Amino acid sequence: MRRLTATTGALAEAVERFDRIAIACSFQKEATVVLDLASEIGLEHFDVFTLDTGVLFDETITAWRKTEEHFGITIEGVRGHWPEHLWETDPDACCNARKVVPLRERLDGYDAWVTGLRREQSPTRADTTEISWDAKHELFKVAPLAAWTEKDVWRRIADRGLPYHELHDRGYSSIGCVPCTQPGEGREGRWAGTGKLECGLHAA
Ligand code: SF4
Repeated sequence: MRRLTATTGALAEAVERFDRIAIACSFQKEATVVLDLASEIGLEHFDVFTLDTGVLFDETITAWRKTEEHFGITIEGVRGHWPEHLWETDPDACCNARKVVPLRERLDGYDAWVTGLRREQSPTRADTTEISWDAKHELFKVAPLAAWTEKDVWRRIADRGLPYHELHDRGYSSIGCVPCTQPGEGREGRWAGTGKLECGLHAA
């Protein structure tokens, strides 16, 4: 039996239970920590990808390269359809084309996927559990940071000397696509002023 620790517990349990596990990496601070936890277990147990929406910040591309370099892995960019400027008229349809559909297709055949969701990030994430059945994608979802605070995440990054997205130092707590992301605490900078809270990847 693999040794479980307070930090790697959910990921180690996932490796015990599931054969095929994918990590969806956003290059935000939580993603760095998830990869670091996974590296303690062995990154060979996981396939790592990111959703390349075609409108990522240059700083996200930089974080992508730095993350690959730090962990010694290649992170696949998964691309969907890129309808021109659809975020201006129908952001839900845009997220669907650039994120939701590509994720669903990429997860086909996996037993579980790993995210950096934390319960304190927003009311929509308050019920996040470490391992749950993801009915939308029909596989298990693993959220090893579900109970972590923002302070916990930053402490791990500092203690381990991990690379992190430079926009966090410029007031962006949560980072998505260029047209839909502003500086702000928590997730307030995402689709600010529109009432939209999630891109649909984690909606039931
Ligand atoms: S976050 Fe904005 S640009 Fe990115 S997929 Fe969603 S609507 Fe489109």
